[in-house]
Amino acid sequence: MKVLQEKITKHGQVISGRILKVDSFLNHQIDPELMHQIGLEFAQLFSSDEITKIITIESSGIAPAVMAGLHLHVPVVFARKRKSLTLNDDLLSSTVFSFTKNETNEISISKKYIKENDRVLIIDDFLANGEAASALAEMVEKANAKVMGIGIVIEKSFQKGANKLKDQGYRVESLARISSLADDKVTFTSEKMEELI
Ligand code: 5GP
Repeated sequence: MKVLQEKITKHGQVISGRILKVDSFLNHQIDPELMHQIGLEFAQLFSSDEITKIITIESSGIAPAVMAGLHLHVPVVFARKRKSLTLNDDLLSSTVFSFTKNETNEISISKKYIKENDRVLIIDDFLANGEAASALAEMVEKANAKVMGIGIVIEKSFQKGANKLKDQGYRVESLARISSLADDKVTFTSEKMEELI
């Protein structure tokens, strides 16, 4: 997605050759127009999959997921990282090791919001080692619903997540694919492919 690549190139900051900081439009301040375009792109990619529900994980997955939900006309559920007094229903839970925070979180979704026969699209902001997406997929499957695909805003293709999820049979659609953050420079997968042609 060209507009997303341009935004990353202009505003992204690389930290220690592995982490991309995009706080100015995705992870802290949010660019609503860009999120709207991202949501539309996901909706188009999964338009023929009869999606009935989108799930994501708090907090940075929520903006792109809601915009995709708006265009697909389906509800969006976000997995919570902390138990709260109001989250007292029967829960589906899974654990996620956070690559950026170096900690393990238990994430939960109320069983009320994923039903058997739901056709679920999983959305997240980043894909690195695939921990978050795998945990979400596990919860969908525990509910006997079907994972129709995984939509990612920024895939770091040099980490193992995308291949791991594809090997497990999931369809992964990433709007920007980064092949390297080496030397604190962002290289997109398509750029590299073009160089090879
Ligand atoms: P994974 O679970 O695939 O290992 O990592 C994805 C999760 O970690 C995302 O939900 C995202 O919050 C966070 N993450 C992983 N890599 C990055 C990164 O380079 N930048 C930012 N901002 N978040 C990341």
